[in-house]
Amino acid sequence: MKKHYKFSIWYFIIGIWGVLLLQNYLASSFAVKTIPYSQFISYLEQGKIAQVAISTNQVQGRLKSETTGGKHQYFKTIRVDPEISRLLDKYHVQYSGTVESTLIRDLLSWILPVFIFLGVWFFLMKKMMPQQPGFMAFGKNKAKIYKQEDINITFNDVAGVDEAKVELEEIIEFLKTPEKYTAFGGQMPKGLLLVGPPGTGKTMLAKAVAGESNVPFFGISGSEFVEMFVGLGAARVRDLFEEAKKNSPCIIFIDELDALGKARGVGGVGGHDEREQTLNQLLVEMDGFDSNIGVILMAATNRPEVLDPALLRPGRFDRQVLVDRPDKEGRKKILEVHLRKITRVGELDLDRLAAMTAGMVGADLANLVNEATLLAVRSNRKTVEMAQFEEAVERIVAGLEKKNRVINPKERNVVAYHELGHALVAMSLPGTDPVQKITIIPRGIAALGYTMQLPTEDRFLMNQSELLNKIASLLGGRAAELTVFNEVSTGAHNDLAKATDIARSMIIEYGMSDKLGQVYLKGEPTAQFLQPGLRTAAEYSEETARIIDEEVRKIIDKQYEVALNILKNKQSLLKKAAEILLQKEKITGAELEEIIAGEQQS
Ligand code: ADP
Ligand code: ZN
Repeated sequence: MKKHYKFSIWYFIIGIWGVLLLQNYLASSFAVKTIPYSQFISYLEQGKIAQVAISTNQVQGRLKSETTGGKHQYFKTIRVDPEISRLLDKYHVQYSGTVESTLIRDLLSWILPVFIFLGVWFFLMKKMMPQQPGFMAFGKNKAKIYKQEDINITFNDVAGVDEAKVELEEIIEFLKTPEKYTAFGGQMPKGLLLVGPPGTGKTMLAKAVAGESNVPFFGISGSEFVEMFVGLGAARVRDLFEEAKKNSPCIIFIDELDALGKARGVGGVGGHDEREQTLNQLLVEMDGFDSNIGVILMAATNRPEVLDPALLRPGRFDRQVLVDRPDKEGRKKILEVHLRKITRVGELDLDRLAAMTAGMVGADLANLVNEATLLAVRSNRKTVEMAQFEEAVERIVAGLEKKNRVINPKERNVVAYHELGHALVAMSLPGTDPVQKITIIPRGIAALGYTMQLPTEDRFLMNQSELLNKIASLLGGRAAELTVFNEVSTGAHNDLAKATDIARSMIIEYGMSDKLGQVYLKGEPTAQFLQPGLRTAAEYSEETARIIDEEVRKIIDKQYEVALNILKNKQSLLKKAAEILLQKEKITGAELEEIIAGEQQS
């Protein structure tokens, strides 16, 4: 909003300048020069005067254009001689008795340029911001909410997101036969949040839900709400819901929910009122409708953590569906979907293609198929072959590597051993959470892979040995790197931070250090409104601080030893598991157990 404002100020200044210039030009061409009476007489004697108008105390007139070089030159003078008419008769000058008003001329020279300027202004505004609704687009408010009646996207077009599909099945069922659900008096979820990185098919999934259940689809992007002038965003939300209710059953889809739903009160001073108003209106609308009328609200975001908590409360977007990056099998299926549209395809090794495209999402794969086809066309081939795909992969990967989204084979290797290190150490120690899955599919910038451990039950208490084991498994990643490659990487910094945190808490919070004893040494949080997370300095001596650091170090060192010892004895298992992980990119805890069992037999 601020930006637009600045913009117009500049145009305004330039505009004013233009008006002045034009006015100056017009005024000079209509200029009335005041001349002394004697000069008037001498003009008269020289026969230069074409025409005059006389009033009681003024004479105004025009000089003959032949004498001024073609220009219209006007003059006026104070009337001195009451007998002027006789004088004019003598020189055969036309005269009249009224004074020609200068008002018209003044108006003309001022108003004309203003009109011209306004015209140019509007023209430019229209040209420059075709898609940014300024005040001129006021009435066209609804144009951007696009309604699609016949969506021919189905679940078959979205591949590799089976988990998300399962979650959405129920919604489709409901939209098809709402009575079945309402008869039970049950409540359908109102809002469904699709969470996942860009290009994984969230929009497609939402459309597929509409397509499968044959209901209209209303789509709008969160950023479009916010770009508008004050008050319009909220009005549009109202319109959107009104329209949807009229068309129920239907689906409302808000893309980029984070653009509109960022937590209120963050992100600087002022300038966000519009977003807040829009967000508030959305919350009001969500609370105001009964999902059983058949309107399902879906939204997509890749940054759920920045959303205003109010949006995630029960009765709003209380259901989240994860749309993750596809694994190898998923990528293969996505490639198949996009290859269906290509009519001339040669022999392709889809397994190999899927393996080559680690880290890519659906949008990247769609792009890949397109790119390969273009390459084939460009080189005048009859069919698209593997060679074109390989070339296209290289091009796309080069682009993605810049964005840190694809990791090279050497790094993948390190990541695989690292993650398995976590998993194997955790499995070897009692009291650690069971390993659910291990993946080397990169997620975001920080994590290149991860090992998911889930507790089997809710835990409120942990004993000392469990905490130590947890630290050991956190250090298992780095330990694996060291035992296999004789070298460590930067990939463990997050693990180290977590391990150190636990070790520190053991000492200063839980009284688990023999040296320091059963004391609580942690500072208390200060009042929340001052600055969340800020703590008062704990009150202990420098000597104590030194001991704390020493004790933390001791715990970490000891557990690192533990992890190293476990992994030293498991080198061949580590190698075997890593091969499988590198090939499949994702293995479950159960699969890892199988690998372990197989290894023990041989
Ligand atoms: P998002 O909304 O998650 O950013 P989109 O749904 O807009 O992603 O996907 C963009 C394009 O990428 C789609 O039009 C489709 O061609 C392709 N695509 C993305 N994910 C998939 C998928 N899972 N299966 C098939 N195609 C996909
Ligand atoms: Zn790790």
